[in-house]
Order: sequence, then structure tokens, then C-alpha cells
Amino acid sequence: MDDKILISVENLSKNFAVRNRIGRKTVLHAVDGVSFQIARGETLGLVGESGCGKTTLGRTILRLLEPDGGRILYDGTDITRVNMRPYRSKMQIIFQDPAGSLDPRSQICDIVAEGLCVTGAGLSRGDRASKVTELLEKVGLDGGIARRYPHEFSGGQQQRIGIARALAVNPEFIVCDEPVSALDVSYQSQIITLLEQMQENMNLTYMFISHDLSVVRHISDRIGVMYLGRIVELGGGVEIGVHAAHPYTRSLLTAVPVPDPQVSRAREQEPIADIQTDGGIPSQGCRFHASCPHAMPVCAVEEPQLREIAPNHLCACHLHAAP
Ligand code: SF4
Repeated sequence: MDDKILISVENLSKNFAVRNRIGRKTVLHAVDGVSFQIARGETLGLVGESGCGKTTLGRTILRLLEPDGGRILYDGTDITRVNMRPYRSKMQIIFQDPAGSLDPRSQICDIVAEGLCVTGAGLSRGDRASKVTELLEKVGLDGGIARRYPHEFSGGQQQRIGIARALAVNPEFIVCDEPVSALDVSYQSQIITLLEQMQENMNLTYMFISHDLSVVRHISDRIGVMYLGRIVELGGGVEIGVHAAHPYTRSLLTAVPVPDPQVSRAREQEPIADIQTDGGIPSQGCRFHASCPHAMPVCAVEEPQLREIAPNHLCACHLHAAP
């Protein structure tokens, strides 16, 4: 394996038993045969609408959810079935809802020091307090807040506390699960900038999950577009943002405002999909065919596979079938 690759996901699947709209038991394939790699120091953005499986995918990679199929490799080691204790400090998560992810009865010092119980087991009380102060200051907070409680802070400050908690264990890989979507716009760019600074200073690797393509484009080196449990397009910011090939990605892009009138006019000429994601996964064919303005007869019977259509650009669509 390429030693630059930190995370490798191979054919990963995660299912849930659910009841459908008429109350029958059925299986939801939340993540369905997903494969990709993330290089050390890279940010892979994952974008898609609510319910497409992106949060489930992030949590399954961290083994907070157990996979039903496929493999997860961390720095070349298969961690799909191993005891995760040695990996918990290396692989962290920053949650969407900062208020909900911080225990309201705990002081900030205890919240941030949670992980130090594992990595800083030998630290004295004083050293632990100094470490907490250092972490709070690292994320732009006053070290003097350590004895206060989460409800005393704004959403942006609470998310900084969540980031300090994730950094306490010196992680290498962080799943950022919609880390700014619950925040006011004024705080969003501050948190994104903080995450970028932390990445540079600590050589972190991110998987950045968001339903907002404009946010993902801002922070990501590469972007994966997810639809009904599958990655339908994967490429760099330019490939996805300017040369998007999958009709679903193009539909997502129409929701992102652009300052360039030429690009904006070109987008207006693109038919917009009437996206239906509440009808479950079709038993055959392309998962997007019921919504796709370009659907062809083959799309209803044959599921397109993710394949390279240009350097650094993969797409699962019959419009881009192999010659
Ligand atoms: Fe549309 Fe067919 Fe491509 Fe699916 S495979 S996105 S239905 S053109």
C-alpha cells in the first residue's frame, strides 16, 4: 500500500433494519459498497443531502457503528474487526451539534480532559490543568474558562471546545461531521479557518461531511458526492465544482451561488433534477434515474459503476460510459 494513504475504505457497507411507509420490515442500505482512500494531511469532503448515508459512513469508518461488509484500513492495517482501543486516540470526531455533544453538567476542563484519561494517564493534576489551558488557547479561547459550563458559551465557542476535546488526544484523523451547519453564518468561517490552521499545525487528515457544497468546496482537497448510500462522483475541487459530470452533482451545484455570470448562465441552461430521495433505493438501475433529466433506457436496468472519466475524476453515470 502507498504509505501516503492513511485511510482506505474498500467496499464498505452498513445496513439498518427499518420499517417502510406501510409498516413492513425492510433493510436500509445506508452505506452500500463504498470505496475510497484519504492521503495523510488531505481533506476529503463528503457532500450529499440529508439521509444519503454520509454521517453513517463517517461513523462506520471510526467503528462507532459496526460495518456489515467491506474493509477499513488505517495506515495499512485492517481495523475492520480489531479492538479499537489503540486507535481511539488516533481517530476522532467533531460533532454537528456542539451544545448536544458537550455534557451540560461537566465543567469545560473535564470535557476537554476526557481523552487525557487515556493518552495522559501519567499526568499530574497540575500538568493536566496546564494541558487543558494550552488546548483552549490553541482553539482561540481564554484558558480561564476551564471552570465554567457549556451553556455559558455561544455555539461557535462550544464548537471550539468540541475541537479542543478532539485535539486533546493528539489525533491523526478527524471526521468533521457537519461541524458548522448548526452555527450562525458569522461563526462558520471562523471554525473553518480554525480547522484549517489546526490541520496545518498538526498535519491532520480530515473527512469533512456537509450537505452544503459551498462549504465543502472551500475546505476540501477532493470531494466525494454521495447519493442513496453510494459515492456517485469523486474528484478535486475543480473537477466537482467546475466540471461536474454527474447529473446529481450538477443539481447540487445549482443551489450554490456563483459570482461569475458566465458560469451562472451556463448552469441555468442545465436541466435541474426533481430529486426524490424518500422512495428508497430502486431494486435495479441507476439510483438517480427517477429524478434524472438525462435518464436513458439503460439507466432503469443497469446500475452504473464508479469509473475514472478523467485524471483525478471518477463518476458513476451511463452518460460517461467507457468507450
Ligand atoms: Fe442519469 Fe442515467 Fe446517469 Fe443515472 S446513469 S445519473 S439516470 S444519465
